[in-house]
Amino acid sequence: MILLSGPNISGNEWKYVKECLDTAWVSSAGSYVSKFEEMVADFSGAKYGVATVNGTAALHISLQLSGVERDDLVILPNITFVASANAVKYIGAQPIFIDIDEFTWQMDLDILENYLSSNTELKDGDCFELKSGNRIKAIMPVHVLGNMCDMERLLEIAATYHLEIVEDSTEALGSYFKNKHAGSFGKFGCFSFNGNKIISTGGGGMIVTDDEALAKKAKHLTTQAKVDSLRYYHDEIGYNYRLVNVLAAIGVAQMEQLPGFIKRKKEIDAIYRTAFEGLADIRFQEVNEHVDPNCWLFTFRTEYQKSLLNLLNERKLQSRPFWLPMNQLPMYRDNLYINDEDISGKVVGSCLSIPCSTYLTDQDVELVVNTVREGIFVDA
Ligand SMILES: *Cc1c(COP(=O)(O)O)cnc(C)c1O
Repeated sequence: MILLSGPNISGNEWKYVKECLDTAWVSSAGSYVSKFEEMVADFSGAKYGVATVNGTAALHISLQLSGVERDDLVILPNITFVASANAVKYIGAQPIFIDIDEFTWQMDLDILENYLSSNTELKDGDCFELKSGNRIKAIMPVHVLGNMCDMERLLEIAATYHLEIVEDSTEALGSYFKNKHAGSFGKFGCFSFNGNKIISTGGGGMIVTDDEALAKKAKHLTTQAKVDSLRYYHDEIGYNYRLVNVLAAIGVAQMEQLPGFIKRKKEIDAIYRTAFEGLADIRFQEVNEHVDPNCWLFTFRTEYQKSLLNLLNERKLQSRPFWLPMNQLPMYRDNLYINDEDISGKVVGSCLSIPCSTYLTDQDVELVVNTVREGIFVDA
């Protein structure tokens, strides 16, 4: 089986994990957690990093620390992994879904701006949705597939409507807008180190921020809000969301290899784009000017989606469609979905992601290319 985006364990992982096991520093204490936090913060251009058990937990805590409360509204794109919306619900807040741009598959900022200008009002420094009367507290851009929207414009919109920004940059470690790293635009950025992400700790996440006080609060909340460990004094309801040392050790080894991983992702992206340019009805994900994406997951559109998915998976070349749009999931069916012509639904019906694990050889990639050509040729 050639994996879509599998973990690449080829550096110092064994060595650092062995050190944890040999010294029994496997749990919450140990030097790798802070080292990993420093490395990710440095790489992403943020001042502070707080490691978490996964990316979902990072989103949850970041929303809470942005002041999102029960019954507030949080804006996010309709195409994302379900965790982005779930994190909003954990707080008792409600997501508002914005349709995506047909070409970049990121939140459509025209639709966003139209919606905000005609459906909200500012009162005492907060933005309220006119119909429900509920406060819109935050916006969560999701850098889908490592691509990004026009972050300058998003920042302006957020400032105009007094919205806090929590970036779901879980797929975008190594992506930049105007040379500024994903996750460093909002009050908080969140990364994930799940098995399929560009670096992996098996499971893991990270909150990054420039605000020292908020970083301290994030650490506090993710470690059971413990003030005095001897007397078990906790000053609020915290979470057991910390990343353990043995996983952070893997993370440090992965961060050492990140530049190489990004390079390989870009090479694979370039091979596919060259090979498929002009082939049948294939359309690539477009990348806006000023965006330098990490090319995390190679995905393209074709009306031959279904037959290609079958053929590729039959040949053990792991391939997937996009996630179902949030408005199509049972728990989010009744939430606001702002759209003109449901681009999300159209894109999902024709997208597929094909193998681009960083350890793939050029021969592996060629095998995928030939199989896609074969599938399209047979079907056409
Ligand atoms: C992976 C991912 C998450 C969640 O990260 P986990 O580490 O799996 O909890 C959230 N949002 C998006 C868009 C993701 O791709």
